[in-house]
Amino acid sequence: MDVGIDAGGTLIKVAYTQKGKVHFEKYPIAEIEQVAHWVNKLDDCQVCVTGGKSGVLISLLDRPAQEMMEFEATHLGVQVLLEESGDLEDAYLITNVGTGTSIHCIQDNAQERLGGTGVGGGTLIGLSHLLTGVTHYDEIIALASQGSRDRIDLKVKHIYEGKEPPIPGELTASNFGQNFLAISDELTTEELLATVIGLVGETVSTVSVQAARQCRSSTIVYIGSSFIDNPLLKEVVTSYTILRGSVPVFPKNGEYSGAVGAMSAI
Ligand code: ATP
Ligand code: MG
Repeated sequence: MDVGIDAGGTLIKVAYTQKGKVHFEKYPIAEIEQVAHWVNKLDDCQVCVTGGKSGVLISLLDRPAQEMMEFEATHLGVQVLLEESGDLEDAYLITNVGTGTSIHCIQDNAQERLGGTGVGGGTLIGLSHLLTGVTHYDEIIALASQGSRDRIDLKVKHIYEGKEPPIPGELTASNFGQNFLAISDELTTEELLATVIGLVGETVSTVSVQAARQCRSSTIVYIGSSFIDNPLLKEVVTSYTILRGSVPVFPKNGEYSGAVGAMSAI
């Protein structure tokens, strides 16, 4: 049995083969000891670990494990997933929206990190909690999908009143930028959460599209657990990426890219 583990800042992602079939599991980082215990109990297996918490996990294992650099594991995993779905191109970008966001250019079979932003899945949870008191990811995304950003975000067309704007009027001029002081008590949890997701989605897609200028391709492969069951984030990222002239791709099981890469390196 081959086991690949990506221990990130928020979640541990596990990919393993059993009887020729690949299985995926995820756990909160607080359960790192339980994951180590599960690995320690397996007989006859090979393990490869990646991610920012790989050192912590390895220290809890009582068997030898390979360690792989996170960005290399992500690249290899994305390549495997895109090959499976028939979407693999010569060159593309990877934007990994994890706790934070990291952007990579893949060309000539090598990955180069182009940059990133501290706005990511951690921002989604943290800002949502501070603004509304809602704590759980599932609840945040369910409520956000029922909200509208219309009363909170300022669009370009709001500034260019009665005049043709030089850029698309539907673009956001300022996230949370409307003059809503008079109605701030009326704003609903759903509206606030939808606007947080708008902020995260527009930031990660804007930075990605700009990074694409430094890469031969304009295909952006979006991965990371922030997209799990999160159609609103996908929608914001998709429409912003297309509007700015790039092509978004969301591979199936993309949140397991690091774990799949680690497993494939065994
Ligand atoms: P990093 O790569 O930055 O070290 P990570 O690998 O732990 O972090 P991911 O697992 O890709 O990051 O994504 C974490 C984000 O996924 C969270 O910040 C949150 O927005 C979202 N998420 C999805 N499902 C859950 C969940 N069950 N619990 C908590 N967060 C979740
Ligand atoms: Mg990660």
